Amino acid sequence: MSELSNAKIHFNEQGTPVASDFDDVYFSNDGGMAETDYVFLQQNGLPQRWQHHTGNAFHIIETGFGTGANFLLSWQRFRQYRQQFPTATCQRLYFSSFEKFPLSLSDLTRALAVHTELSELCQLLLAAYPLPLSGCHRLCFDNGSVILDLWLGDVNTLMPELTSPADAIFLDGFAPSKNPDMWQSGLFTNLARLSRSGTTVATFTSAGLVKRSLQQAGFSVAKVKGFGRKREMLTARMDIPAEQSTPRVSEVTIIGGGIASLCTALALIQRGIAVQLICEDDSVARQASQNRQGAVYPNLHANLTPESQLHAQAFLFARQFYQRWHNTGLNFAMDWCGVLHLATNEQLQQRQQKLIDKALWPASLVRAVNTDQASDIAGVAVSHDGIYYPLAGWLSPQQFCQQAFHFLQQQTLFRFSLNCHVVAIAHQQGEWQLTTITGDIRAKTLILACGSKLAHFDQSKTLPLNKIRGQVSHVKQPALAPLKTVLCHKGYITPQWQNIHCIGATFDRTSSEPVITKQDDEENLQLAQAQLKHPKWLEGAEITSAAAAFRATLPDHLPVVGAVTGQSGLYLFGALGARGIMLSPLLAELLACQICAEPLPLNLSLINRLSANRF
Ligand code: SAM
Repeated sequence: MSELSNAKIHFNEQGTPVASDFDDVYFSNDGGMAETDYVFLQQNGLPQRWQHHTGNAFHIIETGFGTGANFLLSWQRFRQYRQQFPTATCQRLYFSSFEKFPLSLSDLTRALAVHTELSELCQLLLAAYPLPLSGCHRLCFDNGSVILDLWLGDVNTLMPELTSPADAIFLDGFAPSKNPDMWQSGLFTNLARLSRSGTTVATFTSAGLVKRSLQQAGFSVAKVKGFGRKREMLTARMDIPAEQSTPRVSEVTIIGGGIASLCTALALIQRGIAVQLICEDDSVARQASQNRQGAVYPNLHANLTPESQLHAQAFLFARQFYQRWHNTGLNFAMDWCGVLHLATNEQLQQRQQKLIDKALWPASLVRAVNTDQASDIAGVAVSHDGIYYPLAGWLSPQQFCQQAFHFLQQQTLFRFSLNCHVVAIAHQQGEWQLTTITGDIRAKTLILACGSKLAHFDQSKTLPLNKIRGQVSHVKQPALAPLKTVLCHKGYITPQWQNIHCIGATFDRTSSEPVITKQDDEENLQLAQAQLKHPKWLEGAEITSAAAAFRATLPDHLPVVGAVTGQSGLYLFGALGARGIMLSPLLAELLACQICAEPLPLNLSLINRLSANRF
């Protein structure tokens, strides 16, 4: 997920955006949307095909997102189709688009201003438009019924990372004569790989190279009348024998009542899948998700490690996700007030210096600040330089879980059992049998998302899961009231919420019980005081209460998400360490898509790093 260059564009006399480096237009001067409609939608049989589509989701792949005109019109048409045919099988549109030179937000704003008939959608797209970081940006619109996967980077590098077949392909991109690098034979091989029986292709060009390449890749190709003054364009179709479709999963059982389970339940319910949630406690969020406040920011490395790539992607998705659910009415405390990480020791200072020098990440995500700037940002005087994550912040995982649970209970597709301890699971006669104290429960598809108890079952016991007890102290301190950002050192201090700051957290690898100790409270305060050079605003802080729980991690510091090989219908989700709030939304989305066989929001290579079978 490194930073990309924005497109260099200018606007011609007709007001059409032109790519300066390619000397080609983003859409024809004769009316962008009419061309989009004719070339890409109509020639792919849209919107009519949606009415008869037998899958729950329809997947469009596009080469070259550009100004997003093709996406916006598809979105509008899909909205209209949903209103007209609310009970039709196809309920969701996935639009996976690749873009190597994303327009800057200001250029995109100008380019979209002409589409007055789509102004509402244009505003929504602009509000969600991602930072220019390579990789997949999943943007969810219309309550998750329209999903844009914006894959930033070269289409020929990124397309091999996709696994979900397309129903329709919008083969866009500048003309082959002006952009030969894109129209390589590998592009067509990949398009064929991502096609199934009946997949259609439409492209504005009628170039012989494109026609031959499509044919060689296995498509049947036709020349049809082009748009406006263009004489011809191409359409294509994949005619291979249809594969037998696997029956769609209709119900999923989740063991666990923390943030990972609840995010997964939300992602599945949104896809029309029934969910049964089983939790051994008397309420959700009693273990590691019980914290009052948790910082949400990515752990970025100077180099593009799998961990920092995942963190950048998960962080950006999490911001959108929480905001969306907040807007939907889940009333939980959150504040995107920024996170300041002070370089309080030499090791941290060197690591931060390397991160800034390498400049892999845009300043809008993380930037260096000196002591004065840091003090201004924090609202209290600090004594160190550091790095600042302006988009980051904190939220209350406990409140989020409670609110999500409340929302889920109002959904007819949701069932739950609290105080239900699952002792063992066994696969018998095509389904999972869960043994509990109060009787057996049956499940066809089962997710283990039970935090530090993830490896408690025969089927998961080989996972080398570490349990690290952590305690967060709740502090009353009037002199800290001006703190307006999350302040991290070796530990962290949150801004006040309900007159309490959270100071954390301890790391205890030896404890087997998540008990609260006085000693840990003292350790938290002493660490903050020592690291921050005994600031006046921390003097006499009063600890009012605390919370303790186990964080679960794996030796490679990556979470585990996905199916367990050889265990039909069994999935694992966990090892989120201290990052459950940030990682859960994207990983739950990934898991839901794996279960529903829908397009996945992460690179295949990264998904493989998270595999449940890697140990
Ligand atoms: N579909 C767009 C729309 O609706 O506005 C118009 C696409 S424009 C004609 C072509 C786009 O392809 C440009 O945005 C360009 O940056 C992108 N592009 C060109 N070569 C590419 C490559 N190798 N990988 C990904 N995108 C590429």
